[in-house]
Amino acid sequence: MSTPSLQFDNRFIEALPGDTETGPRVREVRGAAWSSVLPTPVADPQLLALSAEVAALLGLGPDLTGSPDFARVFGGNALYAGMQPWAANYGGHQFGHWAGQLGDGRAISLGELVTAAGARWELQLKGAGRTPYSRGADGRAVLRSSIREFLCSEAMHHLGVPTTRALSLVGSGDRVVRDMFYDGNARPEPGAIVCRVAPSFIRFGTFELPASRGDVALLRQLADACIARDFPELADAGTERHARWFALVCERTALMVAHWMRVGFVHGVMNTDNMSILGLTIDYGPYGWVDDYDPDWTPNTTDAQGRRYRFGTQPQVAYWNLTRLAQALSPLFDDVAPLHAGLAHFQSVHARREREDIAAKFGLAQCREDDVALRAAWLQILQDGEMDMTLAFRGLMAVDPQAPTVTVLEEAFYNPERRDAVLPALQAWLQQYAARLRDDPLDAQARQQQMAAANPRYVLRNWLAQEAIERAEQGDLAGVHALQAVLRHPYDLQPGREHYAGKRPEWARDKAGCSMLSCSS
Ligand code: AMP
Ligand code: MG
Repeated sequence: MSTPSLQFDNRFIEALPGDTETGPRVREVRGAAWSSVLPTPVADPQLLALSAEVAALLGLGPDLTGSPDFARVFGGNALYAGMQPWAANYGGHQFGHWAGQLGDGRAISLGELVTAAGARWELQLKGAGRTPYSRGADGRAVLRSSIREFLCSEAMHHLGVPTTRALSLVGSGDRVVRDMFYDGNARPEPGAIVCRVAPSFIRFGTFELPASRGDVALLRQLADACIARDFPELADAGTERHARWFALVCERTALMVAHWMRVGFVHGVMNTDNMSILGLTIDYGPYGWVDDYDPDWTPNTTDAQGRRYRFGTQPQVAYWNLTRLAQALSPLFDDVAPLHAGLAHFQSVHARREREDIAAKFGLAQCREDDVALRAAWLQILQDGEMDMTLAFRGLMAVDPQAPTVTVLEEAFYNPERRDAVLPALQAWLQQYAARLRDDPLDAQARQQQMAAANPRYVLRNWLAQEAIERAEQGDLAGVHALQAVLRHPYDLQPGREHYAGKRPEWARDKAGCSMLSCSS
């Protein structure tokens, strides 16, 4: 294979102790942050989709992404010089309970690419085969879940939400057997591999695992390696570094989850092994987008009973996860006051950001005290009236402060009876909102601009992803490519692409993949 001159500096494995055994034999790995393991080759790697933006970010030109070697490398059948594949070791709290060692069971990092501009990006295959952390599973991923991860990573980025990125979607040519609803109906599905890209894939659970084992030496090494690699702004922080680092993690997590609430994203599995130390949205599994506004909705059928990870409680769950991280890091602190301060910082950053988002989404120069109640009343109406969150907020942009009417919100309703029931409350609310707008210093144009930048028109609605997946499973990738294109500009009006802004069609109301997703992927 002709090897392009890419530069890799694999600092994670340079800086941290590795497992003495190599290869995928399943085992407990103690005293080590990673294990050397190669991707397992696949039958017929084919590039199905590429993110041109991420390729450009990495300095991978069309000569490289267009060559057959590209699909081989990002399907797991070959390596570029400088790649040294590893799987990371970590633990986590799953659904509120400590789960012990988890680790990268089907993710394999290929290396850390250093670009000409000096940026460093870790390239990680998801679905590349077994690792020491695969436990009983196969280390593979199916096409449907890989499409969902590929599209959503990039959609989130273009929405302005902190996230891991996705470079490529490679079909494996192999079949992967999955029982989608764990009900005895296993079937073979096409397999695929996504290459995810981020400065770091370190998770809260990366620190929880050595802490749970009383391995303070490894915990300290991990913390310091993470700070050195991923938090260059703390280079001169000296003995303050752990405290300032934790505060930064709290801050970034608060901002990330506030973005989720702004755009209507439900992660679905906010276990601590799925929380990035950089405050990036990570591990796109049974996530979903809110259609009709409902703070109690979760797309994850595995969580249908407890609904731990429902839309409305995501900020509280993020906070709880940070308390787990604080607990894990506590051996590094003589005094726990900085950990408490970090958690308090989460609350204040989140509260501040929430108010900024109220102002942005409702088109106000500033969020005043009673605007919080105005928003609460609005959300209650959306819920009672079964109104589409994305369309309703977008509809608000057209409210005339002098003569507000319900007309601008008509397309947001799913159900005529629910509409009629909520109409008097909505009309009264619109009067209040119009009065508030008349009392606000923003002019119409500034208001429109501000609202258009905070309220997306296009999000990766579950049914849209499902439509693209069903076509892709028949061998037609055009739906995936079309969604990629639309979601590059989620805040712009895109004439001719109304289909992608439409509310959930009736066929998708209770369909698997649209309103119900499992962890089986
Ligand atoms: P998740 O809920 O997808 O974040 O996964 C939880 C844990 O299960 C992680 O340690 C994953 O690496 C592992 N895992 C999930 N699916 C597979 C699979 N197909 N093969 C091996 N490990 C898996
Ligand atoms: Mg995970």
